[in-house]
Amino acid sequence: EAFNAAVADAAELNAFIVTTPDHALAAADKVDADRAAGKPLGPMAGVPIGMKDLFCTHGVQTTAASHILEGFVPRYESTVSQKLWDAGAGMLGKLNLDQFAMGSSNETSHFGNVASPWRREGTNAAMSPGGSSGGSSSAVAARIAPAATGTDTGGSIRQPSAFTGICGIKPTYGRCSRWGVVAFASSLDQAGPMARSVEDCAIMLGAMAGFDPKDATSLKLDVPDWAAGLDADLTGKTVGIPREYRMEGTDAAILESWERGKQWLRDAGAKIVDISLPHTKYALPAYYIIAPAEASSNLARYDGVRYGLRDLPEGAGLQDMYAETREAGFGDEVKRRILIGTYVLSAGFYDAYYTQAQKVRTLVARDFEQAFAQCDLILAPTTPTASFPLGDKSDDPLAMYLNDVFAVPASLAGLPAMSVPAVLNADGLPLGLQLVGRPFDEQGVLNAGLAIE
Ligand code: GLN
Repeated sequence: EAFNAAVADAAELNAFIVTTPDHALAAADKVDADRAAGKPLGPMAGVPIGMKDLFCTHGVQTTAASHILEGFVPRYESTVSQKLWDAGAGMLGKLNLDQFAMGSSNETSHFGNVASPWRREGTNAAMSPGGSSGGSSSAVAARIAPAATGTDTGGSIRQPSAFTGICGIKPTYGRCSRWGVVAFASSLDQAGPMARSVEDCAIMLGAMAGFDPKDATSLKLDVPDWAAGLDADLTGKTVGIPREYRMEGTDAAILESWERGKQWLRDAGAKIVDISLPHTKYALPAYYIIAPAEASSNLARYDGVRYGLRDLPEGAGLQDMYAETREAGFGDEVKRRILIGTYVLSAGFYDAYYTQAQKVRTLVARDFEQAFAQCDLILAPTTPTASFPLGDKSDDPLAMYLNDVFAVPASLAGLPAMSVPAVLNADGLPLGLQLVGRPFDEQGVLNAGLAIE
């Protein structure tokens, strides 16, 4: 009964593209068998998780929420999902997302919008679960799955976590293998866990992370036992408050939650200091050049020959097949990114846009390096506003991109960053706070998250 109720809830939210109950049940059976045989259980033993449909899963359709990959059934398993199965987890299904992870509201999926289980108090308008990991945030917030995978290129774990009142961490770039994850912007893409508590995130991240020779940017570092290292005592830690994040257009309630966050960290023993990240305002425009540039290159492989959809009109030649397949297979936002990307990479504009954006990226990373000479962690809001009704921003790409203004700097710098639920606003919607750490300091980020949650 509980299972059927959950399936009905999930259908209403449109969180799943496909469900795979047999996979989850097999993991549960394995727990029984291992226990009977006296074998040790993995850290995720029997946990039924949702898998963002950007991770290739052996024998299970993987679409990136696109039409062009509809019907694509990988013959391989992504490294991260394989690690989760090795740790004992099972899969409830493949979760909906913004198409090719491009979006901040989960309204660009070929399989329809995802709704958040939250509503503004006194209204019934369906709210955005954030994006691009909106199926993940919605399913976890609705208690359909205890945890889910996400990916974060420019905020797609943190922003949906903030919108739905859950925890999500993007680890240091290179911690989780990108092998078998459908590529968006390879120099930014990172996988991470989304769950109901900091502790659950710590356990799941431990199962997902680790060196992988199949990913050339994978970090050759041991995976610490983050769950065992959890400690909410922040005595001796200094937390920086970046003054450039006090931006116009940020909700008063968000600024208030930031103040509350400072107090909670102080209560946990941390010292709070003001810091400056002077190039913050250039991070978003740089991101929206670099990410589309990489995307336009990564998405060149969907040509009707190798994957999924093929649109081959009668008597058409190869060029027509490419054009027809891509015209029919990609959604509007994906096409917009490909156009921006090819434009900024084109011979006449490369230096003016792409090279310039890469320089800005270096400056943003340097800002953080200098800040971390004065503090151990940075506290900021995750988003400038709470969740909004589906449809509110869907015809205004710039308003949509502004959602990522606080998330993108840490992505450009490759730093570990987490969103934890902080307070509810006057509408009864959750607001998240973001913690950013030094490279490889997931433990510091998780510990400060623990002090806030
Ligand atoms: N919302 C951002 C974008 O649309 C970030 C997406 C992501 O992190 N995958 O590019």
